[in-house]
Amino acid sequence: MRRCLLFIFLSCALASFRSEGVSISGVEYVRLSDWAHQFGYQAKWRQRDKILQLTGARPNVTVEIDSRKAEIAGVTVLLSFPIAAQKGAALISELDLRTTIEPLVSPRPKRKPIKTICLDPGHGGRDTGKIDGRNYEKNYTLLLASEVGSLLRKNGFNVVFTRTRDKTLDLSERAPIAQRGKADLFVSLHYHAGPSEVRGVEVYSLTPAGANSSNAGGGKSARTGSAGNMNDNNNVLLAYDLQRTIVRETGLEDRGMKRARFEVLRDAAMPAVLIEGGFMSNRGDAKKIYDSAFRKKMARAIVDGILSYKQLAGR
Ligand SMILES: [Zn+2]
Repeated sequence: MRRCLLFIFLSCALASFRSEGVSISGVEYVRLSDWAHQFGYQAKWRQRDKILQLTGARPNVTVEIDSRKAEIAGVTVLLSFPIAAQKGAALISELDLRTTIEPLVSPRPKRKPIKTICLDPGHGGRDTGKIDGRNYEKNYTLLLASEVGSLLRKNGFNVVFTRTRDKTLDLSERAPIAQRGKADLFVSLHYHAGPSEVRGVEVYSLTPAGANSSNAGGGKSARTGSAGNMNDNNNVLLAYDLQRTIVRETGLEDRGMKRARFEVLRDAAMPAVLIEGGFMSNRGDAKKIYDSAFRKKMARAIVDGILSYKQLAGR
C-alpha cells in the first residue's frame, strides 16, 4: 500500500512539473535544479558555475553551461539549445527536457512488436558518397548492411534492405521500401568525412518540431513537424541505444547522439535512425572502416543496440 501511495505521489509530481520559465532569445528555459528535484535527482556542481551533474535513481545527467553537449549515463547527447546560466543556476530549454532528456531518463515509448528491420546502406550507383582514394562510402555501407542483416536474422528478425547491390537509389525511394516491407524500424548506414583530425561515431534521429538540428549552427529552427516526428520518443531512444552500444563495443570516439532533418528520417513511418559509423577522412577511423573484423564488431554493436531498444519499446 505504501509503495502504491508513493507511486501515485511520484506520478503526480512528474505529471505536474512546473517551473518558472525564462525566455532567452525566444526560447523557453527553466531551472534545471527545479526539474531535477521533481525527478528525484540531486544536483551538484562538478565544476563551479560550469559543469552540473544530476545523480539519483535515474541515469546520471551531466550538462555544461553555454554548451549543447550533455551526457546521459556517460553517453554524449546533443541538445538543441545550449544550457544557460542565470544568478548561479543552470537553465535548460523546456523543449530539450521534453524531447531529449525526459524520453531518455524516464522512457515512455510507444510499445509495438519489433520483428522486421529495414537496413538502408547509404548512397549507391552514381552516388558514391564520401571518397577516400579508391574507397567509396557506398561500398562500405553495403558491406556493413550485409553483416548487420545476417546477424539480425540469426537473432530472429526479418530484414528488408533498401538495396543489396551497387545501384543508384534516390533518397525519396528509401522510406517507401521500408513501408512496403512492413518494417518496424529503419536504420540508415553511412560513414562520414570532415577535417582529418575529426573522428568518431554519431547516431542521428529526426529533429523534433521547433528544435534546432545539431549541425545547423544555431540558425532559425523549422517549426513544422514531418511524418517521422510521430515517433519522436521512440526515435530518440533508438538513437541513444545505438550510440551507447557502438561507443562501448567498438571504442570509436563518442561524438554524440545528434539531430538532423535528413530526408530518410523525415519520411520514415516507423522509428528511424541514421548512423555515421566513423570518419573516412581520419586515418584511424578509416583503417577500421575498411577492416572486415572491425566491421563484424560494428555489426554486433548495432544489433545489440536494436536488442536493447526492443527490451524497452518492443512487446
Ligand atoms: Zn553518407
